[in-house]
Amino acid sequence: MRPRFSSQQYIDGVLSGDRLLLSRAITLIESRLATDQVLAQDVLAAVAPHTGRSVRVGITGVPGVGKSTFIESFGLHLIGEGHRLAVLAVDPTSQRSGGSLLGDKTRMEQLSMNPQAYIRPTPAGDSLGGVAHRTRETMLLCEAAGFDVILIETVGVGQSETLVHGMVDFFLLLMLAGAGDELQGMKRGIMELADALAITKADADNRQAANRAQAEYQNALHLFPPTGTGWFPPVLTCSALTGEGIGEVWTMIQSHQQKGEQQGFRAQRRQEQQITWFRTYLRQRLEHHFFAQPGMAEQLQQAEAAVKTGELLPVQAVERLLRK
Ligand code: GDP
Repeated sequence: MRPRFSSQQYIDGVLSGDRLLLSRAITLIESRLATDQVLAQDVLAAVAPHTGRSVRVGITGVPGVGKSTFIESFGLHLIGEGHRLAVLAVDPTSQRSGGSLLGDKTRMEQLSMNPQAYIRPTPAGDSLGGVAHRTRETMLLCEAAGFDVILIETVGVGQSETLVHGMVDFFLLLMLAGAGDELQGMKRGIMELADALAITKADADNRQAANRAQAEYQNALHLFPPTGTGWFPPVLTCSALTGEGIGEVWTMIQSHQQKGEQQGFRAQRRQEQQITWFRTYLRQRLEHHFFAQPGMAEQLQQAEAAVKTGELLPVQAVERLLRK
């Protein structure tokens, strides 16, 4: 049994940066128990004034591109500059494997032991919509706990990039030199979401190829319509192994933040994200509320049977269900 804390204990704990209580508060957010959810919302409401002050960075790229190695090196660089960093993961594949993106202990070994870093994997067995909602709330708790940079990692499959893009200030796409555009997101519209590209593993024999890829991708990005913010996504090269280019990635993100603050596009992006979150959550709740009504399973079965036999058209069946 988990020890129970009062909402005030959670609030004080999170605000004082107590890692144990932060972890417990996140567990509360992930819990499906109604009592936990009420408590979680109390805690979130109380810490809300202390949120929003971090730099929120999304990081994506195909498996093997070097995400965890990059985050380890990048994270240590940030800590070296005096930042406190939380690493969250959105991993839709965790449902299938039963494990989690960050569950593997060997990933980000140094970072995971550093007191200035906090690493939290996605709960397994959740829907993508649920993951996104919980990740947003987890991010807010981490901000309230004093983490001033939040990295949200997502594995480059499916819709998780769009979800993460919808919760960060800066979306970084990691790319390999010479590994095929299609595979890496060119064709899947991921490149359009990116605020910058970084070609990873730009070291030793791979260096020249990385420089060539940099020029190619920079040209490719020129073909995209302008974002309307005056920010033009740059392409950088870096090596997590040698540390070359890692500091430059952070400098670039900072310059994006600065521009965003001066020109107002950062605040606007966050406002739009809040509205999207509101609408998505409303839809989720309505759906849940509808299907959780007593007798709904039976009524659904009857409606489907009537649709199957042709007794009712799908639209008629839906209207009937809604009237009930
Ligand atoms: P992920 O699946 O995207 O998280 O990728 P990993 O971080 O696990 O890295 C995949 C492989 O690439 C590992 O074998 C790493 O050692 C290697 N790797 C990662 N970053 C670099 C780098 O900067 N240079 C070189 N040469 N190898 C790297």
